[in-house]
Amino acid sequence: MISLSQQIAEDDPRIDIEYKRVVKPEGNIKAQEILNKVFKVSDAYWRGIGKIKNSGLAFKDRYEGYDAARKFQLKITESIEPKGCICGNVLLGLNLPPDCVLFGKRCTPLSPVGPCMVSSEGSCAAYYKYDIKRRGREREREIRGKGEREKGK
Ligand code: SF4
Repeated sequence: MISLSQQIAEDDPRIDIEYKRVVKPEGNIKAQEILNKVFKVSDAYWRGIGKIKNSGLAFKDRYEGYDAARKFQLKITESIEPKGCICGNVLLGLNLPPDCVLFGKRCTPLSPVGPCMVSSEGSCAAYYKYDIKRRGREREREIRGKGEREKGK
C-alpha cells in the first residue's frame, strides 16, 4: 500500500519488489535455468480469454515423458464459460463484475456459476465480498446519520 501510494503521489507507475531481502531484480537464476532446461515457450489457453500465442510453457522433447497431456492423450481445448458469464471480459478489464447479469443473483461465492467467483481471489468473488462490506458501511453511516439528525430535532 505504501509503494502504491508513493507511485500515485509521484505519478510514477512501476513494479516494485516489496520482499527485497529475498527477491532480487534478476529473479531466481537457478530456477530460471531449470525452467529453461525443461520447458519451451508455447501457445496456451487461458480460461475465459482463449489461446494466446507464446504465453505458456510446454515440455521440451527430451522431457515429453513427463507431459501428462501427452502420456494420457488428453486433448486440451478452449474452456467454454457458462451461459451468461462474462468472466473473460472481467479478466481483461473490459467489464466490472456487476456488469454480469448473474453477479450476486445466480452467481455468489456460495453458489458460483463462473470461474471468477470460485476462489476467494477471483475477481468476482473479491468484488462481491468487498462491495458488500462497502455497501454495509455506507448503510451503517446512513443509519447513524439519520439517528443523529433525529436526536438533534
Ligand atoms: S459473476 Fe459469475 S457468472 Fe458473472 S462473470 Fe463473474 S463468475 Fe462469471
